[in-house]
Amino acid sequence: MERSLEGRTALVTGSTSGIGRGIALAFAQAGAKILLHGLGAPGQVDRVRAELAEITGGEVAYSAADLSDAREVRKMCAQAEEVLGHVDILVNNAGIQFTSPVDEFPEEKWDQIIAINLSSAFHATAALLPGMKKAGWGRIINIASAHGLVASPNKVAYVAAKHGIVGMTKVVALETARGTGVTCNAICPGFVRTPLAEAQVEPIAKREGISAEAALTEHLLRPMASRRWVEVEEVAQMALYICGPHTASLTGEILSLDGGWTAA
Ligand code: NAD
Repeated sequence: MERSLEGRTALVTGSTSGIGRGIALAFAQAGAKILLHGLGAPGQVDRVRAELAEITGGEVAYSAADLSDAREVRKMCAQAEEVLGHVDILVNNAGIQFTSPVDEFPEEKWDQIIAINLSSAFHATAALLPGMKKAGWGRIINIASAHGLVASPNKVAYVAAKHGIVGMTKVVALETARGTGVTCNAICPGFVRTPLAEAQVEPIAKREGISAEAALTEHLLRPMASRRWVEVEEVAQMALYICGPHTASLTGEILSLDGGWTAA
């Protein structure tokens, strides 16, 4: 394994689970020092913390900041700069989902999704960008979604937040393009095999009276021409590539990893 991130530091939001965990593990294997962040049962958080500690061979700092609160986002960033020295890489990954038709969509769910999936990325970027500029190097990676480029019914807040983060990515890229050493890009995955996404298969199978396999390929993964899950490792490796050498000109890019979803 090439240690392309030796000496680098990273804050990966929502790294206690799913895609964030995969990115944190890949970064740690490449030599980066990580601040683990996210919610979750103590058992789950401890497990990921232990996995990271085994790779890095040292204590792994952890933040349980609730990203629906702007002040907590800022505090998490201050903690990251304190324990890591400075933050080279910010991955805005934490996110939640809720589905309902727009006229029945609960107001508090709208506010929560916009706060966690969009506003937290703004606050973290604003807080950590000065340190990156000072260091003359930085990577900001926003985990958006195919839903940052196209819509689906019943996901009004999620689609709005993901389209928003795609726009924010381009603005930050333009503002940092000249002479800062900082880049900002978004990754837009299709359905990624995480426990959260896998849990959607069984209810579809029950509702439609079909097998889990048919529920997966004919319903959930239908928008993806590939009809296969995106694996967490695919997202992690793309994030790793963005942080590697020869990527100074890779900025403002909205990188799809969606098995052909948005090609149609
Ligand atoms: P996940 O549920 O496995 O992980 C989400 C992470 O966010 C967890 O660590 C959780 O603790 C954290 N989080 C949630 N709410 C939080 C809050 N209020 N404060 C702090 N942390 C909070 O989900 P995942 O599937 O790994 O998704 C990660 C990101 O990838 C999300 O932004 C999601 O929209 C995006 N994404 C997922 C898929 C997919 O199919 N799984 C596809 C495209 C994009």
